[in-house]
Amino acid sequence: MIGTSSILLIYTGGTIGMRQDPSDGTLKPFDFSQILAEVPELGKFAVRIDTFTFDPLIDSSDVEPSLWQSLARLIKDKYDMYDGFVILHGTDTMAYSASALSFMLENLSKPVIFTGSQLPIGVPRTDGKENLVSSVEIASAKDKNGHALVPEVCIFFDSKLLRGNRSTKVSSEEFRAFRSPGYPALAEAGISIRYNQAAIRNPESWTAPFRISTALDTRVSVLKIHPGITPQVMRYLLCGEETRAVIMETYGSGNAPSKEWFLDIVKEAAGKGKVLMNVTQCLSGTVNMDLYATGKALEKAGVVSGMDITTEGALGKLFHLMGESGDNEWVKARLGDNLKGEISK
Ligand code: ASP
Repeated sequence: MIGTSSILLIYTGGTIGMRQDPSDGTLKPFDFSQILAEVPELGKFAVRIDTFTFDPLIDSSDVEPSLWQSLARLIKDKYDMYDGFVILHGTDTMAYSASALSFMLENLSKPVIFTGSQLPIGVPRTDGKENLVSSVEIASAKDKNGHALVPEVCIFFDSKLLRGNRSTKVSSEEFRAFRSPGYPALAEAGISIRYNQAAIRNPESWTAPFRISTALDTRVSVLKIHPGITPQVMRYLLCGEETRAVIMETYGSGNAPSKEWFLDIVKEAAGKGKVLMNVTQCLSGTVNMDLYATGKALEKAGVVSGMDITTEGALGKLFHLMGESGDNEWVKARLGDNLKGEISK
């Protein structure tokens, strides 16, 4: 295909790329170099589409940070050759991957769009075709100056384009599998694709050289506060030698039990220099530790607010910042910075 734009379609695995094998009825990944045969609609765009297939293809439950590093390197290697990148990925950890990538790609001026589907692409009622076709259209869309309309890491699903590091998987069976409750959709596909220009984040400079930062430190534990939590579990997760940072998923606006033993363990972990990040369990809203005495006590004990970041976003942000520096005080100081549109600030 000869066209004005070119897209690299990267297939990592997941439901979207499965096709029913007529011989035994099982779902198997299909050869993505044959994508035009499977989705002839793609041939109607004036876009050149090249494909890259990961080996092995994985269920996204098996995603590891090494996949994010490989994706970042692949995008870096091919950056000048393409106008945009569409990454086909399983839905289960798509929000984690999109969040992490958003922090690993610096001076991004081209779209990187994750998509997938709830039903395989070969199934008659599949949502995969619409997700794929719209993702390709958005990834190749430019303004009159030739700049990408959405130079961000995003997730496209069920007609909505969402900021990757604001997204979360909310349904295992509805076509609307993702939402970004804390941030508006960047675009919506109806009869035409309507871009929400005010919500889209443009690079500080369109000419600054694209680069990647692949150093990740994964020594993070996630603690979901719940009634009945015990000191033993708390101490294990917060104070363990192997833990450098803890995402504390707290109640409401950042609240946690006010019992003495609870706060003592938080102080013990803070005293050991751990990075303690407060993230709300709520689907939307922000941490505000000044609102209630229980939140204030956490702040005094050394916990840093994650504001309205998602857990997936917090994980990517911590992995990235800790990969950049071994200094936990520096990491804590940067948690309040809005690095890639992950918090409202
Ligand atoms: N388990 C699959 C995966 O995340 C589900 C999907 O693709 O939607 O890879």
